[in-house]
Amino acid sequence: MNIQLEIGTQRRLSIIYDFSPTKAQKNIYDVAVATLFKLEKERFMEEKRFTKIDEEFLCDNCGNKVEKLGYTSRDHCPKCLYSKHVDINPGDRAESCHGLLEPIGVDLQNKKGYMIVYRCQKCGAIRKNVSARDDDMKKIIKLSANPLSY
Ligand SMILES: [Zn+2]
Ligand SMILES: [Zn+2]
Repeated sequence: MNIQLEIGTQRRLSIIYDFSPTKAQKNIYDVAVATLFKLEKERFMEEKRFTKIDEEFLCDNCGNKVEKLGYTSRDHCPKCLYSKHVDINPGDRAESCHGLLEPIGVDLQNKKGYMIVYRCQKCGAIRKNVSARDDDMKKIIKLSANPLSY
């Protein structure tokens, strides 16, 4: 049995079978391909992240001077975990709201590491940021106990 996957011009994956799959087999492969496609899309998004802006800033919530992160875009204060509603896509600084993002919980389900869940105090938008290496662990743990309701 041999299966080939092909990424088409529309960035869609399709399966090329060199045998006649049963309906049940086809269902299984369809799910597998959907998963692969999701991962492929994530990789694509990851590449786009290289446009991220990494800069130091003063935290609007606690006044902490936040240093550059170095390995990716710094998007929240490691001390109080607050962030600002400034990105449409991670790190692009293209959002005009600029409201304060209040940490309301932690999403542990993400493959990239846990994410801090935010609600914008100005527009109410829900946002998620990947936690940074130097985040205050005690605050993260405390937040992770919050039931997520968004
Ligand atoms: Zn802060
Ligand atoms: Zn906002």
